[in-house]
Amino acid sequence: MKLNGNRWLLRISKSVVENNAENAVQALVHRFRTGNESLEDIARQNGVERIITEPLPFDGGVYNLNGERLIKLNSLAAPVRQRFTLAHEVGHLILENLLNTPPECTTDIHLERACDAIAVELLMPINEVTKLAREIGTQSPEKLGKVAKHFGVSLRTAAQRLYDLGIWKLSMGMWRYGPSPEQLWFVGKRPWKTDRPSFSVFGLAVESSAPVCTQERFSRGQYTELVALKAHHIGKNYVIAVVATNKKA
Ligand SMILES: [Zn+2]
Repeated sequence: MKLNGNRWLLRISKSVVENNAENAVQALVHRFRTGNESLEDIARQNGVERIITEPLPFDGGVYNLNGERLIKLNSLAAPVRQRFTLAHEVGHLILENLLNTPPECTTDIHLERACDAIAVELLMPINEVTKLAREIGTQSPEKLGKVAKHFGVSLRTAAQRLYDLGIWKLSMGMWRYGPSPEQLWFVGKRPWKTDRPSFSVFGLAVESSAPVCTQERFSRGQYTELVALKAHHIGKNYVIAVVATNKKA
């Protein structure tokens, strides 16, 4: 997540007197969660009377209906997505409290990103992520699943958080394997240009219960880039891969 130059994050930084954006968001969240308060507890502390899940054509939001403050969540979305949406809405409530911003989603992309940053700290607190990553050791596709499960977030959210905090330094992605593999997400720097790399590693991974490693070469200007992939099949033709690059002249 790009935090530089976000005017709301700059105001959070000023307010909590902390220059680093991630540490500023951590300090802000700590004001609203001093113990083990759940997302629901923090929503209630900020005036939300009910949290409703129902089928919606969007992820959810904060509403004032007949004098009652509600959070609505889309019951059709995956549980991890509902939880992220709830954390994002709590982010709106925290910023409303701190900076008097609107409680509902807006077209202000900086405000929405600031709420996402708060959501990520609520779901995956820096201290806990750092501790768990230290315990489980080197970055791998299998360990990503453990981290995501531990925090109740999507694989993508977990990968992005670990990368943004500089804890896991290699790029990672997820693909649906088929005749034309489809990239579902990618975190970090992608060494190839296409969205649909036809790597043999995907085919090998879906045949194997253990992760599979391969190396591929890509031309990038005057360089040939050697890309090491470690891919792991997580079922239903879904493959997660860690990507390491090594530039060769
Ligand atoms: Zn929003």
